[in-house]
Amino acid sequence: MDFALPEELEAVRESVRRFVEREWLPVADRYEESGTFPRAEIRRMGEAGFFGAAFPEELGGSALGFLAVSVIAEELSRRAPELGYCMNMQAMTCPFTIFNWGEDRQVRAFVPDLIAGRRIGMFPLTEPGGGSDPRSSIRTTARREGGIYRLDGAKMFITFAHAADAGILFARVPGAPGHGITAFIVEPKRHPGFRAHGIRMSGLSWALRANALFLEDFRVPVEHRLGAEGEGLRIALNALEYGRLTVSARLAGLARACCDLAVAYAREREVGGRAIGRYQMVQERIADAVVMADAARLMAYRVGWAMDRGLPANRIAARAKYFATMAAKKAAAALFEVHGGYALADDCPVRKLRAYVDMLTVGEGTENVQRILIAEDALGYRDADRHPSRNRLRRRTD
Ligand SMILES: Cc1cc2nc3c(=O)[nH]c(=O)nc-3n(C[C@H](O)[C@H](O)[C@H](O)COP(=O)(O)OP(=O)(O)OC[C@H]3O[C@@H](n4cnc5c(N)ncnc54)[C@H](O)[C@@H]3O)c2cc1C
Repeated sequence: MDFALPEELEAVRESVRRFVEREWLPVADRYEESGTFPRAEIRRMGEAGFFGAAFPEELGGSALGFLAVSVIAEELSRRAPELGYCMNMQAMTCPFTIFNWGEDRQVRAFVPDLIAGRRIGMFPLTEPGGGSDPRSSIRTTARREGGIYRLDGAKMFITFAHAADAGILFARVPGAPGHGITAFIVEPKRHPGFRAHGIRMSGLSWALRANALFLEDFRVPVEHRLGAEGEGLRIALNALEYGRLTVSARLAGLARACCDLAVAYAREREVGGRAIGRYQMVQERIADAVVMADAARLMAYRVGWAMDRGLPANRIAARAKYFATMAAKKAAAALFEVHGGYALADDCPVRKLRAYVDMLTVGEGTENVQRILIAEDALGYRDADRHPSRNRLRRRTD
């Protein structure tokens, strides 16, 4: 077993770091103040290849693989957590699900533009009635009329919906097999009846925001249905497995960012004539945080490693996400504690890092959702890897 990252992945990590420092941080506040979506920067990220690692070259990807996706997601989140959102919208859940489940014409029509950052993606699954159990909570309907579906309903917390050009939206087709849940590739700017309303969240970016969505007679051409009617839940669950790849890596990156800052501050801040890092109780916090951050990173990389081999990864992705949540929370708590009262100031980076840790704790399945999946698997009630996992990059379909 080789724990060293290949040189090319270290180079990718370095290019992410450089991009954030040179191209994002100098302009980030401007976008934040105006609330404008940073299209130009996302396009540059696409051109730099940050979104194409899980796609073949003929679609504009680099085929570097899923471990590369983990490395990019981790580094983005460590340097600029708000940009970490792009990983699912431009690199994984949205485009990879089209690639994984779409017909050739759908893949060619959407994937190259999404991974190049020319079009902005989204993944509207969660509804106001709940996100943990889409099987019971999806109320949005899609009624077929000739060559179109008419969609009515609402979605909640949809990242980038205010800016999105395309996305995968889940709705119930009355009378369709199973639960009727069906996936659609939607284009909000091409058809009326789609309205996004931004949700302000303390500490999180307003430019790169989540939204409530309202659909009123929103039309989707039949040829934009992804998979068969009634196949949507299976598609969504498979997409979330890939989402957990980036979310666990992003949490590992956040844990690392919290550790970096906590260590720097503990070395610099003096109380009672000594750096607070010299006090044992502070050292205990730092020790716990760095060890857990390290382990979270290894678990996140293991998910990418397994996906690169076409191995089932649902079990390890859930474990990685769950552990990374604990690690990031531990590191954020240490960061908060060492900063004393300054941690509460609005312009202190502690607040933002903690907000992103909280946000990622919820995304791609809450802690309880992971606990249920992990425990039922461990107890032998429900094998987490019971469904073959579709992975078209590694030529696995079921
Ligand atoms: C900033 C942000 C961005 C997001 N972006 C997107 C997006 O782009 N697309 C998208 O589809 N969604 C998105 N989400 C939604 C996110 O996936 C959901 O918030 C999440 O799935 C939880 O759903 P919920 O908030 O409705 O909580 P609920 O499902 O209502 O759960 C509430 C609480 O009950 C617990 N719970 C639920 N069921 C059980 C059970 N069986 N046993 C024990 N406890 C249980 C949960 O763990 C949770 O603590 C985003 C959320 C945020 C905050």
